[in-house]
Amino acid sequence: MGRVDGKMAFITGAAQGLGQATAMKLAEEGAKVTLADINEAGAKAAAEEINAKYPGRAFAVQLDVTQEEQWKAALEQAVSQMGGLNVLVNNAGIGGGTTVEDTDFATWKKVMEVDADSVFLGCKYAIAHMVPHAPGSIVNISSIAGLIAGHNMAAYNAAKAAVWLLSKSVALHCAKRGYRIRSNSVHPTFVDTPILDGMAGAMSRDELKQKLARQVPLGVVGEPDDVAYAVLFLASDESKFITGSEIKIDGGISAM
Ligand code: NAD
Repeated sequence: MGRVDGKMAFITGAAQGLGQATAMKLAEEGAKVTLADINEAGAKAAAEEINAKYPGRAFAVQLDVTQEEQWKAALEQAVSQMGGLNVLVNNAGIGGGTTVEDTDFATWKKVMEVDADSVFLGCKYAIAHMVPHAPGSIVNISSIAGLIAGHNMAAYNAAKAAVWLLSKSVALHCAKRGYRIRSNSVHPTFVDTPILDGMAGAMSRDELKQKLARQVPLGVVGEPDDVAYAVLFLASDESKFITGSEIKIDGGISAM
């Protein structure tokens, strides 16, 4: 028996990085998964990789998470392909590393749109599809930067903090309505995915990882599966009494 046997999951930003690792992990544990991404070719390739190991479990759909109409269509497609929906992982996101003075307004709006508006749209439109297939679980990928500020990540801090509290509002709404849908957020620190490329500057990948690791009490950056395992737990019924909560995956950073 897999830990999420029979679950039907929709994962955004699943063409690479944490979304891809999460889709693979959920499929490994018995779920059907729809990999949604703005990068349709990447989502298809990642789905094929899953299907090569677990035939028939993965589907791909094109979705720009900032587009309201695309959300509606992608969810409809996922529901018809998988036979329903009861897990939503709002994972797609972009970085945004500058100070409040150096962030231009267009960048601020872009980061808020991709990192925060997307989660609002996903929750807003997925819940109705999830209710008939409850129990369900919404997992929103925030960041440790949604809980702890940095001087040079104004927009990212703001967007990820919005995801943190929105997840709790969704949890309380679903509980009050008796939907049997839980909502929680996940807060990783640096994890070795392509998103780190934007931080490397003149450094090599290894130099960057070593530099980042020095900020982490455990002395290393995370691996994608460190996050995928937490999402697996929250997606499964093992976490059936956990809602409106957050899991920090930060090697001890927030304990300092
Ligand atoms: P990544 O850049 O490797 O992957 C992000 C994926 O999102 C890509 O496949 C990309 O095509 C997709 N995407 C971007 N914009 C999109 C849009 N508008 N619509 C649909 N898809 C879109 O990043 P990652 O490291 O895997 O990050 C995943 C999530 O985890 C993000 O929300 C990120 O903020 C968060 N996070 C990552 C880290 C880290 O260090 N890797 C740490 C904390 C939080």
